[in-house]
Amino acid sequence: MSRFDHKRLFLPGPVEVRREILEAQTAWMIGHRTAEFAALFARLQGKLKRAFFTDSRVYVSGSSGSGLWEGAVRCGVRDDRKVLHLTGGAFSERWADISRANGVQVDCVQVDWGKAHTADMVAAALDEASYDAVCAVHNETSTGVTNPIREIGAVVKQHDDTLFFVDTVSGFLGTELRVDDWGIDIALTSSQKAFALPPGIAFAAVSDRLLERAKTIAHRGYYFDFLTLEKSLLKNNTPSTPPIALMVAADMQMDAILVEGVEARWARHRAMRDATHAWAIERGFGLYAQEGFRSDTVTTVANSLNIDVNAMGEFMENEIGFAMDKGYGKIKGATFRLPHMGDVTLETLREVLDGIDAFMAY
Ligand SMILES: *Cc1c(COP(=O)(O)O)cnc(C)c1O
Repeated sequence: MSRFDHKRLFLPGPVEVRREILEAQTAWMIGHRTAEFAALFARLQGKLKRAFFTDSRVYVSGSSGSGLWEGAVRCGVRDDRKVLHLTGGAFSERWADISRANGVQVDCVQVDWGKAHTADMVAAALDEASYDAVCAVHNETSTGVTNPIREIGAVVKQHDDTLFFVDTVSGFLGTELRVDDWGIDIALTSSQKAFALPPGIAFAAVSDRLLERAKTIAHRGYYFDFLTLEKSLLKNNTPSTPPIALMVAADMQMDAILVEGVEARWARHRAMRDATHAWAIERGFGLYAQEGFRSDTVTTVANSLNIDVNAMGEFMENEIGFAMDKGYGKIKGATFRLPHMGDVTLETLREVLDGIDAFMAY
């Protein structure tokens, strides 16, 4: 048994949520067809647009991020057209599976796990065939790779009929993302990663172009249909009952984020990344992700010292008080991830790294 009644989460989602944000969820419930709710919706909308660097709109979804994967593909890819997925990690590969599950024809630009996609790879694929959309993962949480979304967006922009869909689930509010400048038609994210909210609510910045495309598609489903969401958004509302308590928490968290400054938040994540890299290299570990594309929000450590990752996790839980990642999917054990995302500070990160040192000396 652990002597800690709360183990701080040092996981790549869900992340540790500050007490005051948790408590914001306990405000008295309000009805969602009220002026009070519309005010909350409008307030949050304005803040989310600043966070995504978009002038268009941000949908709020009572789901995790995966639901919006489905929405993007259903609203953006026409019958008998193809979608191009940039795959090379657990999440990018799952998104491609979800497109297939929705009956869409999928081609992939597959890279080895740990490698990034380049703009050249995407340019070559778009010269070969025409696609309704390109789907990219901004920050591949399973491998710790950040893809060059700005550069890829510039390539996609040269193809008039091709939309650009970006999963920024573990990048948003942790590393640079500029939706309008980078030509992104949907940037979708979850709450429980660098946003540092509880899970259960998801967000998507969506362009006018994607809404125009959706109008040409007959069967878009309902729950993640952007035209349905748009109709309600124009009235500061949602088609079905929204996660009101989570929206209250999100509104409060956005205030804190805007006080810190979105760009300052990116810089804090970058500093935590640099400290984590220095620690890993000094100890003799490797860094799994390709140089030049290493994530600001999660470092995947190549376990070249062969530490027992499960024993390390147990030590951290029982002796130091952190719940740790023990590796993901097919690279579990050979790697472990140090997620430095959300409201984590350099001091907390230092406690974690000192704890792993203590385990290794043990
Ligand atoms: C966590 C994660 C997801 C899945 O998000 P859910 O909120 O669990 O649906 C998708 N993509 C990436 C990159 C992730 O890190």
